[in-house]
Amino acid sequence: MVKPGLKNPEVLQNKSLYQKGVNYGFANTKAYVLYRDGHICQYCKGKTKDKRVEVHHIIYRNNGGSDEESNLTTLCKTDHDALHKGKIALKGGKKRGQLSHATQMNSIRVQLLRALPAAEETFGFITKEHRQLIGLPKEHYFDAAAIASQGNPVNFRTTTVLHKKSISDGDYQQTKGVRSEQRIPTGKIHGFRKFDKVKYSGNEYFIKGRMSTGYAILMNISGNKIDLKPIPKFDRMERLSARKSWIISQKIIASS
Ligand SMILES: [Zn+2]
Ligand SMILES: [Zn+2]
Repeated sequence: MVKPGLKNPEVLQNKSLYQKGVNYGFANTKAYVLYRDGHICQYCKGKTKDKRVEVHHIIYRNNGGSDEESNLTTLCKTDHDALHKGKIALKGGKKRGQLSHATQMNSIRVQLLRALPAAEETFGFITKEHRQLIGLPKEHYFDAAAIASQGNPVNFRTTTVLHKKSISDGDYQQTKGVRSEQRIPTGKIHGFRKFDKVKYSGNEYFIKGRMSTGYAILMNISGNKIDLKPIPKFDRMERLSARKSWIISQKIIASS
């Protein structure tokens, strides 16, 4: 999360903002940005005469744009619409500060060990030894079994494994959250949306892309495009479930 702090000396001019800090909350940041920009569109400086102003992420959030004021600007509705339609463009912006994957995993590891005193730490090379001892192929779920059994024989009571994957914020937003600019494309094409789970010629897939001409690009749960000939049409497809904030698929465990 963004830390409260003074990032901009202009904030000193406004006592209430000073007391709460520039990044007190996103609503506050938005208000601050409007105040900073004098409620004037930073693209046209008022030329369009459109009094409706909105706060815009210079680098879009789904491209990793930050919620900090340095990535936000004030635009009139006319220019904001034009920008989102690709008719005009802005430069600059700031990306979200992100921990590297390794740093993030290390932080999670430390917190888990602290939160769960009974937890024991293990390592990839031990898991690999255990998995090979049991004679299981290299799969994440077999690694999990090897960790749990510590190399003792495993008796599987199921032949199916569920694969659940969350959809990134950029691809999916459930509500018009405080960070959104309230522009969520939710339209259906031929009754289908991106990430809907569908059945097509006996197999289950997810919608990756849609063409208004009635054709679909399908993917597996890993997001890989499935090349199908002929190109699948929506009218030959059954919608199994609507997209959620995660997608789920089933597969049969490879028998060894
Ligand atoms: Zn404008
Ligand atoms: Zn915008």
